[in-house]
Amino acid sequence: MNPLQEQDPKIWEAIQAEAVRQQDGLELIASENYTSLPIMQAAGSVLTNKYAEGYPGKRYYGGCEHVDVVERIAIDRAKELFGAEAANVQPHAGSQANTAVYLAALEVGDTVLGLDLAQGGHLTHGMKLNISGRLYNFHNYGVRKEDHRLDFDQIAKMAKELKPKMIVAGASAYPREIPHEKFAEIANDVGAKLMVDMAHYAGLVAAGVHNSPVPYADYVTTTTHKTLRGPRSGLVLCKDEHLKLVNRNVFPGTQGGPLMHVVAAKAICFGEALSDDFKRYGQAVIDNAKVLAETLMSGGLRLVSGGTDNHLMLVDVTAVGLGGKKSEAVLEDCGITVNMNMIPFDERRPADPSGIRIGTPALTTRGMGADEMKRVGGWIVAALSAPDDSDLHASIREEIRLMCIDFPVPAGRSVTAEV
Ligand code: PLP
Repeated sequence: MNPLQEQDPKIWEAIQAEAVRQQDGLELIASENYTSLPIMQAAGSVLTNKYAEGYPGKRYYGGCEHVDVVERIAIDRAKELFGAEAANVQPHAGSQANTAVYLAALEVGDTVLGLDLAQGGHLTHGMKLNISGRLYNFHNYGVRKEDHRLDFDQIAKMAKELKPKMIVAGASAYPREIPHEKFAEIANDVGAKLMVDMAHYAGLVAAGVHNSPVPYADYVTTTTHKTLRGPRSGLVLCKDEHLKLVNRNVFPGTQGGPLMHVVAAKAICFGEALSDDFKRYGQAVIDNAKVLAETLMSGGLRLVSGGTDNHLMLVDVTAVGLGGKKSEAVLEDCGITVNMNMIPFDERRPADPSGIRIGTPALTTRGMGADEMKRVGGWIVAALSAPDDSDLHASIREEIRLMCIDFPVPAGRSVTAEV
């Protein structure tokens, strides 16, 4: 018996059950992925014991000589990976990265433009209960009704009228490539700072299959656990001139001691993302998304914007007489995990919206390709066409379990025993 199992069997069992769920089912949540075993090893390492307030060479605690090595490597790799002048690798998560940039670049009450949450934006882009919406005067831009693409006429008009101090680009549920240069043009015209939150597509940028915001933005923020395939965490990239204020607003502005075990895991993630393998991975994520989207559409489902050119798609399930909540539950019953999601101009409520969001990053990590995407798309169409047929759901679940045997998750079933 391993020490965790012996000391705390209830937690051990829950972790084991989750490992089985991850192995036996299809993870189609667009913001999730599977890390490598080395990333998990670092995240579960002795570095979790260390306090390291401050930055390499300037800590407020003794004994930081080894974590300094780790953090310097993480910073250097982040800069190399994204071609950035400067990086702060300490934000605990994407939300902290965004909050630190707002504190660095804005005064309380300043006007900011961000994508509407109901049209694909994120909570930290001005939602009224989030600290962003409580401290700053956020206004929302959106997408065009006719094609669900970002409405740059509207963004330019709002920017001219409102004279924002900052424009925030980036999204959580936008299935198309984001043209950063258009945002930069508008921001330059009105003298606004540009922040790009590339959390969703950072891995695609790293792989060179999505245009990079780094040349255009004053600040780039990201999570490290989505397409980038690292530990759950955050990162800020910026120009040299902004680093001092960014650093000050990560620590002590919004955080205390950095999670050095996670900083080490991020360093490994950036190292992995610098490889040719990762470039192939990024391309495969997009190729898989295109095949899955085509399969869903030819099965009669309607996709927001008519398809995808990144890692995700939004399905309007009202076209097959369902709501998002029921669709999520039906697919879960088959061993397919997705999340319900608002679609642009949604007439339903957030708690039961019109859509589901589907992404290919996790299945692509398992090595699945076009053939598997066609099977997955077929199962989704079949399940949503027979939402109350529990026998059909059970047989799909079994077919999925069998297919998944050939595509093991990278860290395996009993990772906690191995580490
Ligand atoms: N920014 C975007 C665009 C996101 O999609 C997310 C998470 O979904 C975040 C920020 C926040 O990341 P975290 O959950 O790590 O705080």
